[in-house]
Amino acid sequence: MRGFVLHTVKVRDEDLIVRILTKSEILTLYRFYGARHSYINVGYLIDFVVEESSKTTIKRLRNVVQLPFSFLFDLEKMLNYKIFINLLNRHLSDVTKIDDFYYNLLIKIINEIKERYSKRVLVENYVKLLEKEGRLHKEFECFLCENKIEKKIALARGFLPAHEKCIYDKGFSEEKLTELFEDKKTLLFDDSEIEKLWKIMNLGF
Ligand SMILES: [Zn+2]
Repeated sequence: MRGFVLHTVKVRDEDLIVRILTKSEILTLYRFYGARHSYINVGYLIDFVVEESSKTTIKRLRNVVQLPFSFLFDLEKMLNYKIFINLLNRHLSDVTKIDDFYYNLLIKIINEIKERYSKRVLVENYVKLLEKEGRLHKEFECFLCENKIEKKIALARGFLPAHEKCIYDKGFSEEKLTELFEDKKTLLFDDSEIEKLWKIMNLGF
């Protein structure tokens, strides 16, 4: 089986409880410590075996092989990717059965990050996630006062459009946001705007 490590919790010194996103479900598994075991880290794509355990309710994680990806040793890319995984893990905290959209999204992300600026890749793919979940608001109507937004469009948590004056924040141009929301591209945004989108995304999925 293959999956992405969403979260790990250390228990009893060196054992781990590991949350893994596969194509169809999110598994919570127990891994006993072993000095020869490969290292498990948040964000890693792993190949593994699930072993039924008669004594406990939680199944065991066995035969873990980490599938390497190209930016593993690029600290900045890895850090931003892990931040995204943590946000995703919190977002999916109550989920066990899942659409393969999420697994495929992470596959796309690890392939794109090696070539491009990680924050751009992650913001673009976050917008895809919002659209998939029916939470992307392409008509620029303020979520607070419900009136149309004529000039600059500010974004609240979850990229909810709002008037600058309604959420006391500086907005983005309609042209740039339309390109992001329609085509999932950040080409028109400069780096300081990407930083701003990144911070809004970090408020939570
Ligand atoms: Zn408003």
